[in-house]
Amino acid sequence: MIPFNKPHLTGNETDYIRESVLSGKISGDGIYTKKCHQFFETKYGFRKVLLTTSCTDALEMCAILLDIKPGDEVIAPSYTFVSTVNAFVLRGAKVVFADSSTENPNIDVEEIERLITPKTKAIIVVHYAGIACDMDKVMELANQHKLYVVEDAAQAIDSYYKGKPLGSIGHLATFSFHETKNIISGEGGMLVVNDEHFIGRAEIIREKGTNRSSFFRGEIDKYGWVDIGSSFLPSDIIAAFLYAQIENIEVIQQRRKDIWQRYYRELKPLEQDGFIQLPYIPEYATNNAHMFYIVCRSLEERTGLIAKLKENQVMAVFHYLSLHKSPYYIQHHDGRELPMSDLYSDNLLRLPFYYGLEKIEQEKVIDIIKGFYKQLPKKTELVKELQK
Ligand SMILES: *Cc1c(COP(=O)(O)O)cnc(C)c1O
Repeated sequence: MIPFNKPHLTGNETDYIRESVLSGKISGDGIYTKKCHQFFETKYGFRKVLLTTSCTDALEMCAILLDIKPGDEVIAPSYTFVSTVNAFVLRGAKVVFADSSTENPNIDVEEIERLITPKTKAIIVVHYAGIACDMDKVMELANQHKLYVVEDAAQAIDSYYKGKPLGSIGHLATFSFHETKNIISGEGGMLVVNDEHFIGRAEIIREKGTNRSSFFRGEIDKYGWVDIGSSFLPSDIIAAFLYAQIENIEVIQQRRKDIWQRYYRELKPLEQDGFIQLPYIPEYATNNAHMFYIVCRSLEERTGLIAKLKENQVMAVFHYLSLHKSPYYIQHHDGRELPMSDLYSDNLLRLPFYYGLEKIEQEKVIDIIKGFYKQLPKKTELVKELQK
């Protein structure tokens, strides 16, 4: 069986966990948490990093930091994970969904301006598959209209926009270390604060609304309840695991890029024949090899391909279902059609992709896909058929 995902261990995880356990301090902000913070701040130039228990939690911190209140609006793509917007809905926001681009599932930046109203507080972008959104345009709009920008960079570790690391551009950004991401800790995430004036409050919100962090730095002589918050910081045991991963980030990324390139190279002829669409990477973006997806021509074709792969013990999976049509949000959505979001919901397929995917396994996946399309008419032939 070739699964869709298999978590990769670098080998040092259990040693570091043991060390963390034996250090006698296994709650949050221990030695490994500090090492992780320092690593990310140094490598990517993030102004301030705070590990969290998940990307979902980091997004919830963003909504609190931005003082989202009932009646506020946030603009976000419909083709994304629930947490991207649920965090804001929890604070009472209305989500104004934007469509995806025709080029890739990222938010259609050209559509954002039309969705801005006097109630808009923030634009939430998602760098889908780790490929950057056009951040210059997003930041320019945000500056013009005095809005905040949150980058949901859950999938975007070690990826860049015009040379800038993703997660370093918006006022706030969030990452995930869930076991399906490039760098993992089982469950885990981080908040990146780029706008300095949010730093103090971010520390308080993460520590249950208390000024405990300042207290431990000796800045104040007692700590107490000063704001709302929750328990968003992970145990140092999680950070120990994460540190073993980030130490190996170069090796992990190189291997993932090789796997990605093989899929791309081998499936290119199917794209040229009009059967599928491969990931599009704009020239301003890098590829962090988070995921390999193809876009099929129809839902029926995708269903057939998934079945064919499954018959051969290969697990390929579709991804998000448009949130504007979700059972929870459909009654709050303003009724606009978002055809690209629906298209990716129906037609996008993710192929098995993980560090340990062997070349022969990958070739098997590729061969099944090629075999599947061999029996179908090419797009060019279909057009000819229709013209008859
Ligand atoms: C994985 C993911 C999340 C959620 O991350 P968790 O760490 O599991 O909370 C949020 N947004 C996007 C775009 C994701 O891919």
